[in-house]
Order: sequence, then C-alpha cells, then structure tokens
Amino acid sequence: MARIDIHRLVKRFKGAAAVDGIDLEIRDREFLAIVGPSGCGKSTTLRLISGLEAPTSGAILFDGVDVTDLPADRRDVAMVFQSYALYPHMSVRDNLAFPLENMRLPAAEIASRVDRAAQMLAITPLLERRPRELSGGQRQRVALGRAMVRDAAVFLFDEPLSNLDARLRVTMRSELKRLHNEIRQTFVYVTHDQVEAMTMADRIAVMSDGRVQQLGTPEDIYYRPANRFVAEFMGTPAMNFLAGRAVVRDGRSALDLGASLGLVALGPANPATSADGALTLGVRPESLVLVSAGSGVLTGSVALIEPLHPDVFVTVDVGGQKVLVRASSADAPALGDTVGLRFEPGAIHLFDAQGERLPA
Ligand code: ATP
Repeated sequence: MARIDIHRLVKRFKGAAAVDGIDLEIRDREFLAIVGPSGCGKSTTLRLISGLEAPTSGAILFDGVDVTDLPADRRDVAMVFQSYALYPHMSVRDNLAFPLENMRLPAAEIASRVDRAAQMLAITPLLERRPRELSGGQRQRVALGRAMVRDAAVFLFDEPLSNLDARLRVTMRSELKRLHNEIRQTFVYVTHDQVEAMTMADRIAVMSDGRVQQLGTPEDIYYRPANRFVAEFMGTPAMNFLAGRAVVRDGRSALDLGASLGLVALGPANPATSADGALTLGVRPESLVLVSAGSGVLTGSVALIEPLHPDVFVTVDVGGQKVLVRASSADAPALGDTVGLRFEPGAIHLFDAQGERLPA
C-alpha cells in the first residue's frame, strides 16, 4: 500500500516559492505523471515527496501517516533521476546489488532480487558487463533496475528518459508502462514531455508557477482542459485561440470574433453568453476541417504548409490571425489558396477573461 496525500505544500528558496501551495492525492498503485514547463516546480515537488528536500510548510502523508519530518531513507521510496550515475568499475550485477548490500540483506536474497529485476528489464545477458560496455538505453535500464531491486512501495522518477534518443525514449516508455503493470506499485513520474505523461500515466497533474493547474486522466486533460494554460500546454501542435466577445443575436448565443471573422454560434445553454463579455475560443488543429471557401465557419488563406506524412500542418491566415489545421496530406491545399474551416460545435473550448474554462 502506498497512497500519498499532499496538503498545502510550500517550498520557498530565498523567499521565492518553487512550490506554492499544492494539494494532491496520489492513489495507491497509480501511475501519476507531473508535467509542466521548465521551472514550474515539478522536481522540487518530487524531492519533497522523497524527503531529499524539507518543505517550508505543509504536510506529506504516506497511507495516512505523516512523513513530513522523516528523512529520505526512512520513507520506503526508490528514486530514478535523469542522470543515472552507475559505478563505472563495477559490473551491472554489482551495480544492481550494491544498494541491497548496503541494506545488509542476505546474499541469497540479493541474488534473487537482482535476477528478478534483470529478467523484468531484459538485461540478464548484460549482467557481467561494465557500464561503459552498454548503450545509453541499456544503462538507463540498469539505473531503473537499481531502483527496482529496492522493492519500494513508491517509485519516484525525475525525467528518467531525457538523456535518450527519440527512438529509445519510445521503447522505454512502453517498457516503463509494462513495468508498472507488472509490479503495480505507486509511480510518480516527473517530465516536461507531455507525450510521456499522456501515454504512460493513469492520471496527470499539470503544473505551472508552483501550482497544480489540473489533476485528471489523460482524457480529462485533453478533452476538458481546466484553463487556458492546460489547453495550450497539452497537445501538439498546440490548440488555436481566437479572441472574441460573447453576444446575443436574435435571441441566440454567439461569439463575435470581430469584423473580419464574424460570428460563431454557441450552444443555447451557455450562461457566459447571456451578457456581452470577453471570451477566448479554443479549437485544436485536429478538430478543424478544411472545406471549400465560403462553406466553413471561418475563411482564410493558406500561409504555410508543413508536411508530416501522413498528416500535414496547414497554417491559415484568418483575418490576420494564424490558425493551424492538422489535415491528411491527401487533402493538402496549395499555398495562397482561399479555404474554409469547419469544426463541430462540440469541439470548441471556451475560456473567460481569466483563462478559466466555461461550459461550451
Ligand atoms: P525543470 O523541468 O527545468 O527541471 P522543474 O519544473 O523541475 O524544472 P524545479 O527544479 O522544481 O522546476 O524548480 C522550481 C523553481 O525553484 C525554479 O525557479 C528553480 O530555479 C528554483 N529552485 C529549485 N531548486 C532550488 C535550489 N536548491 N535553490 C534555489 N532555487 C531553486
């Protein structure tokens, strides 16, 4: 068992808050990813959970027991960092066994744990090699193995794949997910890479400026972003935003995008549209469909085409604003073409002047 409850956690460095009042409940055995831009406080949060750092205020509970003042070595956590320092003069087997020898476990127990971890990570054939005789990905797996042999209740990962090339990262993503399915312990995984978070995690905490902006399943985060920051940060290429005003025309709600773009009809029940007010419309590139000029909701001219087969990213200049469309390369228009853009009413996201999500 390892449920982690974080209450009003604050960490200040010389007065500046790296972690600025976080409340987070991490469920037993879940894979939680903490994602956010550089400097948002992800690593500090992880270090606070591990006990490597002490909070300025707030509390951390493991299974209801307050561990805020417990040092790292008494928290039953294993940590994997981005820089995996293996001992160069030791074989892989000895690198794996080292933490267990420090714990003074019996030799037979050490051997069986090392063998089991090696098997799980498919590094059994490498056990007698030295780190310099391994590829980057193999070294990374040894570093993971060194955390796994600990048999901890909580595994903490700080950007463990960031030193790997793109191809290996994809392989290791699947391996980590498989590993979690197999050992079913609580994983907390820090990354700035939203694809890692989306593909591996049961739930994602999106952070910025030392705060959790949203905690939810990958589906929640993608389809129902809580605010503009989350909407913009999660999803590649990023969501398009168009500024407008909520208006009521002929008794119907609409979003007035200005003289050059016109009106977009909104759902009848949207309370935000009952009074005139500033709104932002968000629509993802993959929710936009290119249609013939005049038959869409918006009209513009093609300003840029970026092929990424089998897709193509088409930038459309709509009344001076750039809108990115993800289309199939078979449907790619030509540069300078006048095109229409269509989207389903359900595909739009609305944000108020403060950037908070409104019912669309
Ligand atoms: P990255 O993705 O770049 O690693 P992060 O989201 O993990 O960033 P943190 O490392 O948690 O961010 O840092 C959050 C803020 O706290 C940053 O502004 C950082 O400069 C500051 N900070 C972190 N550790 C310390 C420290 N030991 N002393 C002073 N400031 C620190």
